[in-house]
Amino acid sequence: MLDANVKNQLKTYLQNLKRPVELVVSADDSNKAKELSSLAQDIVDSSDLVSVTYQQGKRTPSMSVINPQNGTNITFAGLPMGHEFTSLVLALLHSGGHPIKLDEQVIEQIRQLPGEFHFETYVSLSCQTCPEVIQALNMMAAINPNITNVMIDGALFQEEVTDRNIMSVPSVFLNGEAFSVGAISVVEVLNKLDKNAAGRQAEQLNQKSTFDMLVVGGGSAGAAAAIYSARKGLNTGIVADKFGGQVAETVGIENFISVSKTEVPKLVANLEAHVKDYDVDIMANQRALSLAKNGLFDVTLESGATLSSKTVLLATGARWREMNVPGEQEYRGKGVAYCPHCDGFVI
Ligand SMILES: Cc1cc2nc3c(=O)[nH]c(=O)nc-3n(C[C@H](O)[C@H](O)[C@H](O)COP(=O)(O)OP(=O)(O)OC[C@H]3O[C@@H](n4cnc5c(N)ncnc54)[C@H](O)[C@@H]3O)c2cc1C
Repeated sequence: MLDANVKNQLKTYLQNLKRPVELVVSADDSNKAKELSSLAQDIVDSSDLVSVTYQQGKRTPSMSVINPQNGTNITFAGLPMGHEFTSLVLALLHSGGHPIKLDEQVIEQIRQLPGEFHFETYVSLSCQTCPEVIQALNMMAAINPNITNVMIDGALFQEEVTDRNIMSVPSVFLNGEAFSVGAISVVEVLNKLDKNAAGRQAEQLNQKSTFDMLVVGGGSAGAAAAIYSARKGLNTGIVADKFGGQVAETVGIENFISVSKTEVPKLVANLEAHVKDYDVDIMANQRALSLAKNGLFDVTLESGATLSSKTVLLATGARWREMNVPGEQEYRGKGVAYCPHCDGFVI
């Protein structure tokens, strides 16, 4: 299934496994199932810590990646190739004890989530936003055994796509109900699941002392302003709805002046690392609602918290222009799209 080069790379990655990982494959006589079985065998051949068993599952062909120690389960229904191959490799690594790159606080919040959360995520293998969502949900599933995620290749499971009226991907269902369409991060998923999270965050934000400079916006402009300000010794904070800004809506960037070619996850990670080189307080996933002047500037956030600062710099960039026509919000992601290669992928 995999060519020699990819097999070698996989072998190198799987050297990071620290504990056993089990694959459970559901296969039949179809060509796709044969390819999936062959992929499972390639994985097993790449590490002594991986084993495979065959068992009829809810969807065929599918492959579950299981940590037998605590029972976490990440499933791929269809063949996780194309953009989803990285999701498969990460699922193997995370299930096998390789550290998950999330803040310790976020990991703990995921671990403590009360209840059972079974996600089903419909993707197309050519969709560029899909792996980000799959990887976010898979990380959650690798942390908490009460959370599962199934990646479903819509092209192979057309009946489900029709039954569930799925018009674009990634489309996420939680416990059988529609949950989200389009890009969504781990923290955004958590905020939707953990109703008390916003209140707890607001309490913490209200404790912050007055900033010298508070930047609203975490795109390239906001990041540059914060770096400049922190370099001058000012007590600086960034409050941003989505750190990274608009660029996060795409994948390949080829005209960011002085960087001839890069991919957005790398660009955003570099942006964040550059800001973190300085003493900047990044308050991500926080939306500012209003600005008032009472001697100092008060910025009130959607979570209910208020931040004070001597100076406020607004770098809120741009967002999709809405037409405000009936049905626009209702059919967002179900036919209404704002950018064909960001949120308009169809199966
Ligand atoms: C699909 C796409 C592809 C692109 N490709 C390229 C490219 O290849 N090369 C290139 O140079 N440029 C590209 N751009 C343009 C580039 O993304 C923008 O020029 C750049 O992001 C502008 O940066 P900014 O910081 O001014 O604003 P933005 O990136 O828009 O950032 C705004 C920030 O403010 C935050 N924000 C907004 N309102 C609030 C609020 N109320 N409370 C808190 N935070 C808020 C947002 O969450 C975000 O963090 C592309 C844009 C898109 C959409």
